[in-house]
Amino acid sequence: MQENNNIQPISNAELFEEAVQLIKDHENVIFFTGAGISAESGINTFRDPEHGVWANKIGLALFGTPFGWNWIPSISWSFFKGFLQPIVDAQPNNAHHAITRVSTNKKVRVITQNVDALHQRAGIDAKHVAEVHGTVYKFRCCKNGHPIDVNLEHGIPNSSPLCAVCGSKARPDATLFTEALPADALNKAYHWIEKYSRNSVMVIIGTTGIVYPAAGMPESFMNKGGKVIEINIEESSYTPRVNCFLKGKAAEILPQLIYRVIV
Ligand code: NAD
Repeated sequence: MQENNNIQPISNAELFEEAVQLIKDHENVIFFTGAGISAESGINTFRDPEHGVWANKIGLALFGTPFGWNWIPSISWSFFKGFLQPIVDAQPNNAHHAITRVSTNKKVRVITQNVDALHQRAGIDAKHVAEVHGTVYKFRCCKNGHPIDVNLEHGIPNSSPLCAVCGSKARPDATLFTEALPADALNKAYHWIEKYSRNSVMVIIGTTGIVYPAAGMPESFMNKGGKVIEINIEESSYTPRVNCFLKGKAAEILPQLIYRVIV
């Protein structure tokens, strides 16, 4: 077989320049983020083979499903505390701050699968964030869904708080396996995808793209012809379709990218 010497692989530097130009050329930027953007804040991703939340299958089967919360809420709470503690302790990292920084120059919308509220804590207005898997900062009762006020600033309660109305135990108001996504966040996300797909670029950060239905959002954006940049330490299910794949840690690549966009 003869080698074709005319075909040159696109280098990382060229892809980086292409990504800078794509953001400069668009009025709006939609960030679609997953667990990987918060890895540098000390929150384990789901699928990290060593430390991932996924590694504790029994715990996840309890605090990650409605079955666990309905069946043994006290034990689900004790496993959930282990997931919640690093989130409560975490600070936004340079990737979250870079998104906030670019929001002063561009119209930014964030669709996040994360439940850690780090985008808002980095300064993005909550109305510009769609938390499509809910948040661990809100709670409701297992039995009737009554909201329960739990202030995590004073530490995570040792045992599950009780509902003031019906006395049943608390669970997080995040989307568990098998549950539907919160309608308000879902509508917000699809509204932005519909409204902005022609004049915006999407930046997908730190997600495997296999947790549906949220994973379908970037696909829907791409199906409408929207341009996409992806940042991840490894290829995801989106990588073959994106315009620029930038391989590396979000907290290292994104600040460099945004710096180039705004100078
Ligand atoms: P995932 O754990 O399945 O995948 C993480 C992705 O991030 C992988 O593609 C990995 O290669 C990439 N990644 C890891 N470190 C990175 C880094 N430093 N920079 C860039 N990319 C990095 O997570 P997912 O795809 O988001 O889906 C799992 C579900 O788990 C989501 O619904 C999410 O809500 C939930 N989750 C959330 C948090 C959080 O709120 N911080 C943490 C764990 C899990």
